[in-house]
Amino acid sequence: MLTSIKKSLAKSTLISMGIRISIVVMVMSLLSYFHILDNLKQQTLDKLESYIMERAQKESAIFKLAEDNHTTFKQAFLELWPERKIANANPRFDQLFENAGNGTLRLIPATFLGLERSHTSASDYKGESRWISGFIGKGTPVTSNEFRNRALLSYDLVDQFAHAWSNRFANTYVSLPEGVNIVYWPYLNWAVGANSDLDIPKEEWVYIANKEHNPERKSVWTGLYYDQTADEWMVSCETPVDDENGQHLINIGHDILLNSVFQRVFDDHLEGAHNFIMREDGRLIAHPLYVNQIREANGLLAIAELADEQIASQYQSILASINHHGRKPQIIDDDKSNAFIAIAPIQGPDWYFVTVYPKSLLATPAQKTAQFIFILGLISLVVELFMLYLVLLKKVLDPMRQFEAASKLVSKGEYDLHSTLADVNNRRDEVGRLSLAMLSMADRIYQQNHSMEETIKLRTNELEKAKEMAEQQARTDPLTGLANRRSFFELGSYALETAKREALDLAIIMLDLDKFKMINDEYGHAVGDVVLKEVANTLTISIRASDICARLGGEEFAILLCNTDLHGAALVAEKIRTSLSMIVISANEEKIQFTASFGVAQLANTSEQLDDLLKLADERLYQAKNSGRNRVVTQ
Ligand code: GH3
Ligand code: MG
Ligand code: MG
Repeated sequence: MLTSIKKSLAKSTLISMGIRISIVVMVMSLLSYFHILDNLKQQTLDKLESYIMERAQKESAIFKLAEDNHTTFKQAFLELWPERKIANANPRFDQLFENAGNGTLRLIPATFLGLERSHTSASDYKGESRWISGFIGKGTPVTSNEFRNRALLSYDLVDQFAHAWSNRFANTYVSLPEGVNIVYWPYLNWAVGANSDLDIPKEEWVYIANKEHNPERKSVWTGLYYDQTADEWMVSCETPVDDENGQHLINIGHDILLNSVFQRVFDDHLEGAHNFIMREDGRLIAHPLYVNQIREANGLLAIAELADEQIASQYQSILASINHHGRKPQIIDDDKSNAFIAIAPIQGPDWYFVTVYPKSLLATPAQKTAQFIFILGLISLVVELFMLYLVLLKKVLDPMRQFEAASKLVSKGEYDLHSTLADVNNRRDEVGRLSLAMLSMADRIYQQNHSMEETIKLRTNELEKAKEMAEQQARTDPLTGLANRRSFFELGSYALETAKREALDLAIIMLDLDKFKMINDEYGHAVGDVVLKEVANTLTISIRASDICARLGGEEFAILLCNTDLHGAALVAEKIRTSLSMIVISANEEKIQFTASFGVAQLANTSEQLDDLLKLADERLYQAKNSGRNRVVTQ
């Protein structure tokens, strides 16, 4: 009982508290998830912004450097050119360029292997004079002094600058629009490898600088290409140089090695994000997933050619954003690919450095933190529930146990609950008040019980007396005080059974007053009653205490004589008959006498019942009446 209350109360309270606290924990975790997500989003956007700017700047450096070198070269060329174009070029030109057959000229091998030169004037450059090769194609105006001077000045400046730039650039070269190329390229004799049919003006790295293709006369960039010889991705920067009349004199060129740039794009990325480089027109320059495809397409791979819906849709988002915001760093919140796309233009070629940052990266730390908060919440839930259980135990369950013990005492009829409720008695809360109420209730019950018991005792006594009286009355004939007919049968049956069991004699005497009607008629009913009382007295004093004497009805009586046979009974009957006949009653100044007739019988066998015995005695009484009355018949 106690444990079941304890169990169910504690359990249900803990369960309902558990559910409520769990809901709070879940809501808190959810709220913190969204809060963290929001914070992380802002942090990530800030991080991405600085990242993309930094990266674009870093990757632009090489291209900017190329343009700066060209500016230096161009200034030097234009400064020297007015003087150099009028000099006699022939002796040096013939010394440096040799006929290579098929109408082409090449720089002499010594310019590549190491040229011995005597510098006569202070302005003469004392350069490296190595790694330079040169090619003059068919159909060039080789006899023109101006042409020759341009080729020579180009050679001298390549000789002057290229070596210093060689640690950052694969090569430095100058091309003349007519079909000349002078190249500084360590360990690579480019001109020796050039086919005599090479039509330099038709090469991309030359024609992109032409006025036709480059009317703004700025530094321009070839497309991306893979250089088999160098085993490198490259792009070439070409800067045209015109004189003050607008004559196109030369182009300054750098081949820029891109492998390390691309490797940085692939390797150096934010965790979980990836970078790629693309052109605004949709050409993919470098992408970690499409290295081979880009190589196979020799750098001419358009995003549209890829069966990659994601990158295609990202490109569309990028294009839309550029159209809207212009060519500057920007972050696109791209719902389609569920990513932030940060883009920044690379200075130099019209490339964009792109970082794709999946938004799922935000969800993970947010989820982790929310999960942590959730687990923390669950742990505190368990602790809270345990503490709640302890509080419940002390504040509720223990008092309840005491109340239960107290109620049990009351139900057992013990009303002194003071020691049982001692612990809760002096509490000032509801429990204390309940305890006081219970104590006073027990007192009241005790008092009520006590007075009720007294009343019941009294009533019971009265009832018992009344019952005794009623029973007495039920067994007694009111007129004579003898046993009545019903009592006679009760007592008689018992005596009969005893006699049978103990094989004792048992006899019965029945008597009826003779002509009693006449007494009533002559002297009145009251006198008849006096007679009946007189008869009863006589009978009572004539028999033994163990005999049973009763008034069976009217003026008819019976006597059951225990331990008496027929003969004994006949003697008793005779004695009574004589006694009765001698009674004289005075009434109305007259003397009244009367007699009675007797029938006597004896228990003959064990099968006989009281009725049988009475019947037999009655038959004999009848015989006594018939044979003259006032006599005893025993046969
Ligand atoms: P018998 O010799 O044949 O017995 O004649 P009897 O007159 O005694 O006959 P019966 O039995 O007919 O009459 C009995 C009378 O007893 C009738 C009735 O008035 C009277 N009696 C019966 N009970 C009482 C009683 O309680 N008091 C008085 N005074 N008379 C009674
Ligand atoms: Mg009679
Ligand atoms: Mg009679």
